[in-house]
Amino acid sequence: MSDPDLMQKVISLAKRRGFVFQSSEIYGGLKSCYDYGPMGAELKRNIMAEWWRSMVYEREDIVGLDASIIMHPKVWQASGHVANFSDPLVDCLACRVRFRADKAPKVEKGSEVAYKKEGKALRATANRSYVCPACGSPELSEERRFNLMFRTFLGPVDPVGALADKLAGRSLSAQEIREIAEGELAPATVYLRPETAQAMFVQFENVQQSLSLKVPFGIAQQGRSFRNEVTVEHFIFRSCEFEQMEMEFFVKPGTQKEWLAYWTEQRLGWYRRFSNRPEDFRLRQHAKDELAHYAEDCYDVEYRYPWGYDELEGIASRTDYDLKQHAKFSGKDLSYFDPAETDPATGKVGRRYVPYVIEPAAGATRALLVYLLDAYCEEQGQDAKGEAKTRVLLKLHPRLAPIKVAVLPLVRKDGMPEAARAIVSEFLKSGVKAKYDDNTAIGKRYARHDEVGTPWCLTVDGQTLQDGTVTLRDRDTTAQRRIKVAEARQTIQDLLNRAG
Ligand code: ATP
Repeated sequence: MSDPDLMQKVISLAKRRGFVFQSSEIYGGLKSCYDYGPMGAELKRNIMAEWWRSMVYEREDIVGLDASIIMHPKVWQASGHVANFSDPLVDCLACRVRFRADKAPKVEKGSEVAYKKEGKALRATANRSYVCPACGSPELSEERRFNLMFRTFLGPVDPVGALADKLAGRSLSAQEIREIAEGELAPATVYLRPETAQAMFVQFENVQQSLSLKVPFGIAQQGRSFRNEVTVEHFIFRSCEFEQMEMEFFVKPGTQKEWLAYWTEQRLGWYRRFSNRPEDFRLRQHAKDELAHYAEDCYDVEYRYPWGYDELEGIASRTDYDLKQHAKFSGKDLSYFDPAETDPATGKVGRRYVPYVIEPAAGATRALLVYLLDAYCEEQGQDAKGEAKTRVLLKLHPRLAPIKVAVLPLVRKDGMPEAARAIVSEFLKSGVKAKYDDNTAIGKRYARHDEVGTPWCLTVDGQTLQDGTVTLRDRDTTAQRRIKVAEARQTIQDLLNRAG
């Protein structure tokens, strides 16, 4: 049975052990913005490094890109984000909560629904197909479109000052002021990217030509994205600033179906590889009415969160829409010439076409939440005095774990700290994240490392100085065995490799 308090327990552990803090907490926090503490920063890096390894390092057909967050504003006009990247926003007239219509609880239009207003139980007819997510009321404001992109200004301009000069002393209607304001702000307006993807389309030609890449090939990018989300929910699941891991895979038109099938399987398999419960991940095909206007087909990799199955990654077959839009708006030809392919129109060898695109678009910070939820475990046991005790541990995959090995001197004397430090420095030299820890009793140190997901602890004790051995403790089983100090680095390296 799943634990109803799992989310709260993970949020509390995330703060207690330095994974995730609320942004600007000493100032009361900033809604939906988060900071990743020492353990969270490592976990996020490890997730992103594993993605990069599987996408770029282990393949010959995908290359990386690191584009700027601020791009030419025309990019977002061409992509459709300026006109369409908006959510339907609704206010509940009963409890005043503001929410997204497309994410609200569904009801049958015309049915009678029960809800509460100021403590009173009421009933009313639903004249929409959804109700307020907070109080269940069908009394709702009109839907308004709200663009999710953050706007800012580029250059040494003060558009607000220029606007103030323009408006000073004039008597204008709200509509007139709005038009003047938009006109005055427009030349300096730029956007924080709401996704990393567009740079791969905009730089398609530069990347393809600089490396003479042949279709099919992909361009991968990781980095920050920003969305002024209407509703923020479930801790870091939906935040206003987050990290994405996206890849645009350019294919020959007509082959997109096979490549979509290939990438959905690859991506599902990738998530499952690092999980304790692979069955909690599944694929869901989008219904026709869910598809974005440019998408031919789309699957979500979904995870079984405490609130039910929900999105973790989207894998879309985007046709040639993006490259064609950018070609149209920039005036630059973004087609590809394949010298070996026969042109179906002429029957001659050599074909020019605009590639189709398969896009696996993942959230790195959302994946971090998923792996914390997947790893959180409680085990009933006994402490040294035989009293009942709950052991909390994070069964993180060793490749994702922030610290791979903790080296613990049993006591702070008799040469044990020196021996432990020497072992740590061996690990650090070989690039394995090890941590020296001599703080508090050994049992507490094991508990602390169980909670941050450290897969192995090496304990230096009196015997170490006599026979050159240490105990190796396994996080998941707590089993201990003695190994030679001289072989410690290789043993941990082998265990890491074996974890896959
Ligand atoms: P949703 O329907 O949940 O708003 P989306 O379908 O708009 O998400 P995409 O644009 O496909 O999301 O983004 C790709 C991935 O980026 C998502 O699957 C998710 O993992 C991540 N992501 C998107 N928005 C956010 C956010 N506000 N906070 C954290 N991660 C996000």
